[in-house]
Amino acid sequence: MKRGLLPKKVKLSFVLVAVVVIGLLAVRIYNSGRLHLEKQTRFMMDTYVTIYALGPKKVTSRAIDLALDRMQEIEAKFNILNPKSPLYAFNHRGEPVSDQEILDVVRLALKVSHESGGAFDITISPLVELWGFYGDSYHLPGEQEIKDCLSGVGYEYLTIVGNGRLEKSRDNIRIDLGGIAKGYSVSQAAKVLRAEGATSALIDAGGDVYALGKKGSKFWNVGIRSPRGEDLLGYVEVEDLAVMGSGDYERFFIKDGKRYHHILDPKTGCPAEGLSGITVIYPDPIIADAWATALFVMGPGKGLETVEKIPGMETIMVTTSGETLYSSGLENGLKVIPKIE
Ligand code: ADP
Ligand code: MG
Repeated sequence: MKRGLLPKKVKLSFVLVAVVVIGLLAVRIYNSGRLHLEKQTRFMMDTYVTIYALGPKKVTSRAIDLALDRMQEIEAKFNILNPKSPLYAFNHRGEPVSDQEILDVVRLALKVSHESGGAFDITISPLVELWGFYGDSYHLPGEQEIKDCLSGVGYEYLTIVGNGRLEKSRDNIRIDLGGIAKGYSVSQAAKVLRAEGATSALIDAGGDVYALGKKGSKFWNVGIRSPRGEDLLGYVEVEDLAVMGSGDYERFFIKDGKRYHHILDPKTGCPAEGLSGITVIYPDPIIADAWATALFVMGPGKGLETVEKIPGMETIMVTTSGETLYSSGLENGLKVIPKIE
């Protein structure tokens, strides 16, 4: 037979068969391993934490398990109500903190305190207690009580000395890392996920989110919660970014028609005014969390102005009068889909 007509057809059918077989194989690999979405939820830090990861189940389920374990470990260590926590010993017995992990977070907290002009202040603890926000017995304190309490507030009374020891220069200083600890916990979970080989994951700590990599070939879509009601303000499409929120709806009480919430202004000793919700988008979840609290205290005007000066940080703010404000970068980089009425 001459090389020519028939073999060409045969060649073609071989190619077709090969294409189909490779295609089927690819679909199998795709379905059995790569695109499996593993998900686990655990209750911790007063909320439900869910981690999603895309990839082979063997890798993702172990990675998620270890990441959640790590978050629980951090929760116990950073819980100021836990008598075994070094923070408890510092607050109640004046013992210096030498735990390096806590010191690293305190260093970042102090940096945000400086940069926010004291809006973020981990020595806020006596005030949070006075208002009853550590438990369920919320209470409206008197003016004098607030004044007295303010004498135990001030990050300038904290120093990290020698080779790493946190000390206080006033006995009544107590610290609370509640405004930054969740960010730290999320960042550590992301670290564990990466170390365990996860390349595509989403950590959702009760609305505070970190997106690791992409969701396959797409961005992760993160809903931005409205401070009132269950509606979403829209979505942001993110990759390797934290989306952290703070709001007046998490812990609050209403007295004589006025809302009192758990984010306190260290200058006045009272709940911060001006905003009802804030979302901060930034690569590092720790910084994003601390700034969400700091900017909430600073309010819409000064807050938005400050965000514009921090490279890579974006924010969505909802004022107490219901106005939504976006930082300038959101229009270009991230997608915010406004709610359809
Ligand atoms: P969550 O999302 O867990 O409610 P936030 O990040 O919104 O936490 O921070 C609120 C917590 O931070 C409060 O419960 C309190 O422990 C602490 N906090 C309140 N006001 C301040 C402040 N001005 N600076 C630092 N921490 C604060
Ligand atoms: Mg915070």
